[in-house]
Amino acid sequence: KIKKQQKDHKTIIDFAGSKIGNGNFVVIAGPCAVESQEQMFMTAKVIQDMGTIFMRGGTFKPRTNPYSFQGLGIDGLGILEQAKKKYNVIVSTEVMSTEMVDVVSRNVDILQIGSRNMQNFDLLKKVGKTSLPVILKRGLSATIEEWLAAAEYIMCEGNRNVILCERGIRTFEKYTRNTLDLSAVLAVKQLSHLPVIVDPSHGTGRSDMILPMAKAAMAIGADGIMIEIHPNPGEALSDGDQSINFAGFTDLIGEVQKLKKVF
Ligand code: PEP
Ligand code: MN
Repeated sequence: KIKKQQKDHKTIIDFAGSKIGNGNFVVIAGPCAVESQEQMFMTAKVIQDMGTIFMRGGTFKPRTNPYSFQGLGIDGLGILEQAKKKYNVIVSTEVMSTEMVDVVSRNVDILQIGSRNMQNFDLLKKVGKTSLPVILKRGLSATIEEWLAAAEYIMCEGNRNVILCERGIRTFEKYTRNTLDLSAVLAVKQLSHLPVIVDPSHGTGRSDMILPMAKAAMAIGADGIMIEIHPNPGEALSDGDQSINFAGFTDLIGEVQKLKKVF
């Protein structure tokens, strides 16, 4: 009986009533990078208008090329905090280094560990000592076992509120930016009590694939999605090709609402 209870145990993370991991399908949306206050206020407003609540936005950006836009840094944190206060959104942002964990934690609600840092063990331990929920993105080439072991690094420091995020892995295929491994979501659901969300933006690199892959994520029982949206994707300072505009976001929320009645 005890074993069964343990097996049935699911981690549910409660953000003042908005839960992740309770069977509900959440949508976390926002730009790849925080670019301006105006952009984030517009984004927070459309999120509020759609009746969703979770917003993302990177201000410390792990860019492949050192000459690409690196994010607004501390200034971006201030913008996120203003958007949070004005529109009552729950904000997630990436933290890239141990030194920044304390300051980032003061400004946002959810810490993101990016794919490139999935096995940065010092960083995992540090966020494990905070009381904020952590979205742990799967490493670019991480096995499921390595991903779950990384989650364990956070949890064994005391922070049990980990959300796993499948964001595609590197394969030989070049047509898409990454290969979105939806079967890994099922595997992790079998192996772990943690909520699992899917990032079809990084998972495919293509805005036209976000909606179909979001539906697929819903069909397999993922706990939600994280998607990149931008007021004008063509002008985005990063990841415009995998971002949808606000009209696309509105459509996506409509589809998700419809499908919630089916699944
Ligand atoms: C991001 O979410 O903006 C990001 C950089 O994602 P990943 O770490 O999955 O590449
Ligand atoms: Mn991005």
